Amino acid sequence: TADSAKSFLRRNAFVLFTIAAVLLGIILAFSLRPYHLTYRQIKYFSFPGELLMRMLQMLVLPLIVSSLITGMASLDGRASGKMGMRAVVYYMVTTIIAVFIGILMVIIIHPGKGSKDKLHREGRIEQVQTTDAFMDLVRNMFPPNLVEACFKQNFTGILENITHALGTISEVLTFEEVIPIPGSANGVNALGLVVFSMCFGLVIGSMKQKGRALREFFNCLNEAIMRLVAIIIWYAPVGIMFLIAGKILEMDDLAVMGGQLGMYTLTVIVGLLIHALCILPLLYFIVTHRNPWVFIAGLLQALITALGTSSSSATLPITFRCLEENNGVDRRITRFVLPVGATINMDGTALYEALAAIFIAQVNNYELDFGQIITISITATAASIGAAGIPQAGLVTMVIVLTSVGLPTEDITLIIAVDWFLDRLRTTTNVLGDSLGAGIVEHLSRHELDAQDCELGNCEPGKE
Ligand code: ASP
Repeated sequence: TADSAKSFLRRNAFVLFTIAAVLLGIILAFSLRPYHLTYRQIKYFSFPGELLMRMLQMLVLPLIVSSLITGMASLDGRASGKMGMRAVVYYMVTTIIAVFIGILMVIIIHPGKGSKDKLHREGRIEQVQTTDAFMDLVRNMFPPNLVEACFKQNFTGILENITHALGTISEVLTFEEVIPIPGSANGVNALGLVVFSMCFGLVIGSMKQKGRALREFFNCLNEAIMRLVAIIIWYAPVGIMFLIAGKILEMDDLAVMGGQLGMYTLTVIVGLLIHALCILPLLYFIVTHRNPWVFIAGLLQALITALGTSSSSATLPITFRCLEENNGVDRRITRFVLPVGATINMDGTALYEALAAIFIAQVNNYELDFGQIITISITATAASIGAAGIPQAGLVTMVIVLTSVGLPTEDITLIIAVDWFLDRLRTTTNVLGDSLGAGIVEHLSRHELDAQDCELGNCEPGKE
């Protein structure tokens, strides 16, 4: 009836706007492409998109910190321990499945077929790098300077190895100078901030009366940030339209996609689709016995934002809103699970890194043995944990995976041309994985949540 159609429109206005914006952006871009706009014109054109990106990024830092601190402080130690365990198990299981799918796809489809050159194995970088890369991961968990952690990641180990291999130890090089990859600069050390905020939250949670002022402060900060998100969300469709249109205008002619690179792109797409549209929804269904598609429909706006921004941390504010407002996920869960998920749980990135490394081996006609494939799966998992949720971060942490089996890191350049596109898809998969994870952890933690409600005197009749 007309009434229900109206209420449907009202409820889904934002999603509809956003979808319309994406379509409009694509149409606009393809109708402008024949005019071959200059670099400068494209930059002006995509300015509204750049602004959205900046607004979202602006909120991420206070959002991660305030939501984790309040989340941890509002749970008692045992409940948060249990939820934490469940979340970590979910992250590990889904990441391992993703890596497995990636490896399976690249072996079956074999996109690197037809290469003639054999890899010159002399001059390869020593395998000791893997340990150093793992140490970097752990280093990042404990930032010596919290202010620096807001804009910089730590790549000491990887960097030392690269400079060592290049024989330029005396020179001080930045990571971006060694591997000049767009988007690699200024990565927030989200891992460090997450670890700090969790510990801090736990501590002020245990401080009873003394910690009250701080708990209220961060609670209030979190509320205020979410209100800002509610305002920015109005602008999101416009921003996404220009982000997508700008990128299509910038993109090179599709001819580069021919041959091996085209097959590679296709392999990544197939792998990501299997993981995002079959495995994850199935897992959600098995655990919760609820319809995963209803849940995913509630997430549409976050997924489209991920596609537009190619950054799971920039999408975080929208993910919060979708989960809490549309899917009614408990805030004690989202506040705790989402920031951690956006930082360490990257299924799409893990799948992609394993797949890309094996593709590079195939292109070099380099046979990997079983042990090396296992090494690749472990390092791809680590690399996905270490990647910040910013555009193309996965390409940077690829270094860890490649060097662990002695593949040439310069070959990252082979796949840079299509990375902007694949990055968007893997980011969307990352956001989907985090969100379904929040739904699953909430379902499994119902008991603890209800018990806590009772303690606070909000018992619903019939429960506990
Ligand atoms: N851009 C991705 C994200 O934000 C990370 C990656 O490059 O894989 O989730």
